[in-house]
Amino acid sequence: MVKIKFPAALAVLGLVIALAIFTAKVGAFGNTVVAPNARPNVLEHITFASTFTDADARYLQTSLEWLREYLPEWYTYVADAKPLLFAQDETQRARGIISYAKCCYTRGTGAITFSAPLGQWNLDEMPAVPGVQAQQVQFLSVLIHEVTHIRDVRAGRFEHARDARTCIAAEQSANDSELAFARALTRVQITGDANARANYRLIADKHLEITQDNAEGVAWKIVCFLMHDE
Ligand SMILES: [Zn+2]
Repeated sequence: MVKIKFPAALAVLGLVIALAIFTAKVGAFGNTVVAPNARPNVLEHITFASTFTDADARYLQTSLEWLREYLPEWYTYVADAKPLLFAQDETQRARGIISYAKCCYTRGTGAITFSAPLGQWNLDEMPAVPGVQAQQVQFLSVLIHEVTHIRDVRAGRFEHARDARTCIAAEQSANDSELAFARALTRVQITGDANARANYRLIADKHLEITQDNAEGVAWKIVCFLMHDE
């Protein structure tokens, strides 16, 4: 990442110029140009419920910034689902619920509730690799899943998931997105030393395998039948 330092008196002017150049370049070449000093706030149009901690918000910010840097098309996929409301409800954990999405509230806000502090998921199947990447990959995958539900409802798909069949169709859509995201993760070339890159590769490959097994399994279909037992 290139950083440019301006003398203090010129900082504001410099930022205005940088933004103007950034805007002009984006207009000309699309989103491929990354301008130094132009760091849009990834938390814009996101509201946090009182149950959502500051640590969670920081984790979300770091994760979204990682996503924007390495997989901008998937960052856009999430950003397009704004406005979003994030909440945390640990009582859901006892019911075996990791997260859930609801769409939509006031001003079309899509809500995502997590049952654990962000960054604390660790699937048993995931190898114990040092660093935050394993948890972050799993968290982003859950986020993509829930964002898909919100996008689908906004687009008028599966709006009334009140029976097992519609529930399965909606979950299939979210699982398909997670799978596409898992494949995209395996194509990411992260910066860092050879060790960090090897660790990342291990995580991304394992995550794809877990996501594939989950999508092909029947557990989520059974949950749909149990939730809509008539
Ligand atoms: Zn789902």
